[in-house]
Amino acid sequence: MAVTEGVPGLAREATVPAALGGTPAFPEGLPLTRVQVPDREELARRFEAILDSGQLTNGATVRELEETAAALLDVPHVVAVSSCTSGLMLALQALGVAKHRVVMPSFTFSATAHAAHWAGGEPVFAEITPDTLTLDPASASAAIDAARFPPERQARALMATHVYGTPCDVEELQAAADERGVPLLYDAAHAFGSRRGGVPVGGFGAAEVFSLSPTKVVVAAEGGLVATRDAALAEQIRLGRGYGNPGDYDCVFPGLNARMSELHAALALVSLRTLPERVAHRGELAAAFAARIAGLPGVRLPALAEGDTSTWKDLTLIVDPSLFGCDVPKLADALRAEGIDSRRYFHPAVHTQKAYTREGDAPRLPVTEEMAERVLTVPLWSHMDEATVLRVADAVVRIREHAAKL
Ligand SMILES: *Cc1c(COP(=O)(O)O)cnc(C)c1O
Repeated sequence: MAVTEGVPGLAREATVPAALGGTPAFPEGLPLTRVQVPDREELARRFEAILDSGQLTNGATVRELEETAAALLDVPHVVAVSSCTSGLMLALQALGVAKHRVVMPSFTFSATAHAAHWAGGEPVFAEITPDTLTLDPASASAAIDAARFPPERQARALMATHVYGTPCDVEELQAAADERGVPLLYDAAHAFGSRRGGVPVGGFGAAEVFSLSPTKVVVAAEGGLVATRDAALAEQIRLGRGYGNPGDYDCVFPGLNARMSELHAALALVSLRTLPERVAHRGELAAAFAARIAGLPGVRLPALAEGDTSTWKDLTLIVDPSLFGCDVPKLADALRAEGIDSRRYFHPAVHTQKAYTREGDAPRLPVTEEMAERVLTVPLWSHMDEATVLRVADAVVRIREHAAKL
């Protein structure tokens, strides 16, 4: 600082955060995500064929998507649905959670809990592990044990989220679920393309449910995919996405309309084609960002186990305010001054949201509550270049240097 102070122009621009009068890193603005428009020619060809066929929903393109996804995920069954939320609802319904508790993390997107509610279940929240931000197997086990009484409402399912694409501790969670005789379901909304060791996320637990909405890594505009090794469960979900109607209008249970349209399936198929390259590139961007902030006190990224692959659906900073020099809202304001968009994924934690608190309830998940205060997601998309992600990292470094003055 002493060297550059007093040197007008460039030096000041390079060292002072925009919030304190420096030049913004992105005067034109940097949004949180940008959807990559897939190969439009192939898309147009597919749309034409669908329109010519006259079959607009649940036809050959949906079947092609299911087969393509099953091959990529190395699972025998994939059922395409209208959203991840509807896929989770149908999977939970099929697992029989109605009138029973469902143990899950609170550090997740609200839809994880909403799905349990709509399936007639009661969400019960457990803690995350602070280094990975994924469900803590010990806390999950304790929550299932505590939810054993009354027996008529005991936990009927364990649900975990691969947060930002970071694979959960699937071995420990499976052991916890097996020991207690409850099925394990994954909210894999962020994780199409993630791998545990070399194994694709998609084949773990009783089922894994992916989202294809526009902020995710594989996009269909709207849509979801349920992946499972269980033929009977896949069949239940197929029935459930079409009202529970086996074909003769004599519905066997109250299902939903959770079908995927042919047009959405075409989008997803085109999006899947470039997935490996996109996941690899996102990993390189995250690694470049991590290297640039390495050693900077008070900020880190979620830990990825050795040998695992994350989609890096989100690039999320974990900020320790006492070491960083300011809290997350101040950092978000300073980034906004640089032109950098950010979001607090996931804040507030689900168990503290209005939908899930009753009057007089005290918050009771200290790790989750603290982590929810500490996270801030910064921009990352599949066709971003490395210079851009490094400019974001440099802005974080600059803001930290001057944090006390913000
Ligand atoms: C986006 C998201 C969902 C919901 O996905 P939809 O396809 O929009 O229903 C569920 N869980 C998580 C963790 C998500 O991020």
